Amino acid sequence: MTTEVDYYELLEVERTADGAALKSAYRKLAMKYHPDRTGGCTDSEAKFKAVSEAYECLKDPQKRAAYDRYGHAAYTNAQSGGGGGGGFRGGAAGGFSDLGDIFETIFGQSGFGGQGGGGRQQQRRGADLRYDMEISLDEAYHGKKTEIQIEVSAACDSCDGSGAQPGTGVKTCGTCAGHGQVRAQQGFFVVERTCPSCHGAGQVIESPCRSCRGDGRVDRPKTLSVNIPAGVDEGTRIRLTGEGEAGARGAPAGDLYIFLHVKRHAIFERDGTTLFCRAPVSFTTAALGGVIEVPGLDGSRHEIKIPVGIQSGKQIRQRGAGMPVLNGRGQGDLVVQVDVETPTKLTAKQKELLEAFRDTETGEECPQSTGFFSKLKEIWGD
Ligand SMILES: [Zn+2]
Ligand SMILES: [Zn+2]
Repeated sequence: MTTEVDYYELLEVERTADGAALKSAYRKLAMKYHPDRTGGCTDSEAKFKAVSEAYECLKDPQKRAAYDRYGHAAYTNAQSGGGGGGGFRGGAAGGFSDLGDIFETIFGQSGFGGQGGGGRQQQRRGADLRYDMEISLDEAYHGKKTEIQIEVSAACDSCDGSGAQPGTGVKTCGTCAGHGQVRAQQGFFVVERTCPSCHGAGQVIESPCRSCRGDGRVDRPKTLSVNIPAGVDEGTRIRLTGEGEAGARGAPAGDLYIFLHVKRHAIFERDGTTLFCRAPVSFTTAALGGVIEVPGLDGSRHEIKIPVGIQSGKQIRQRGAGMPVLNGRGQGDLVVQVDVETPTKLTAKQKELLEAFRDTETGEECPQSTGFFSKLKEIWGD
């Protein structure tokens, strides 16, 4: 075992890595070195055990704090003292038991060191899975029923997930006589540790299932129906309980999490339940007032009243025309921002009319411009 290597180094993470970073680092390495993938290569298996051991320690905030505080040596000794499968270290008998006590106190559990012997292979819930799904804003508005296809490890049909070849059974473990624990004398102490043969289960499989090689799980494509409620947003997670990876040998399955991503809409932006859009308004409508139409995500058309003399940038709010409240009642608002558009393609006739209009201007029509220019006159001292 490579227990001398720093756990953070083993997992290739920073010492400040958070739980999610640890988990993803571990998953990556575990996939790489998993005995099922490497065909039982001894080096890989050792590496697999080492990264698993590192992860088992660091994923638990209490154990991690102790590891950070007492360092690796303390952990290694405690591990051995607890009865890791790696056996006891020669000459360490004087010191490790104290450290073992420290660790038992800290961790509040004995047999903590069982990881080294493969205690992690006990009844273990399957891994949670993540599935990323992209939906349109319209779909987020209305909600959606859909199906997804995933390849996921599921309980093996041949053995019903037990891992035992059909027709054969499980038998009581000979090593521990079914106790799951074995006792070893070490100096003055009798140490109890997880049985290395059955990994604590007390039973072993007589002959492993040929379909799943005794694991109880096989990879299989699966179709799941997903119900996306109205009002979901970017980053909303939908949990499908029990649709993650199957647990080994009949252990409960993990969950599947669908992470939603909402595509950009051609005209709408969204902030929570508020929908926002910019609407160009002709300068005549802005000056004279009028009505413009804005499409709603429900397929309707909203008539937005433009008051006389509206300025560019002004926002008009339509109550209840925004996004539905997720798992609630009602809807947010639609906010329309007016962008007054200066005409750029005038006919000769229009140009003539505007010039005639300019000749009638007194400055009273545009109080802001008049105010601005009178300030400029002061500045320039005209
Ligand atoms: Zn099987
Ligand atoms: Zn046993």
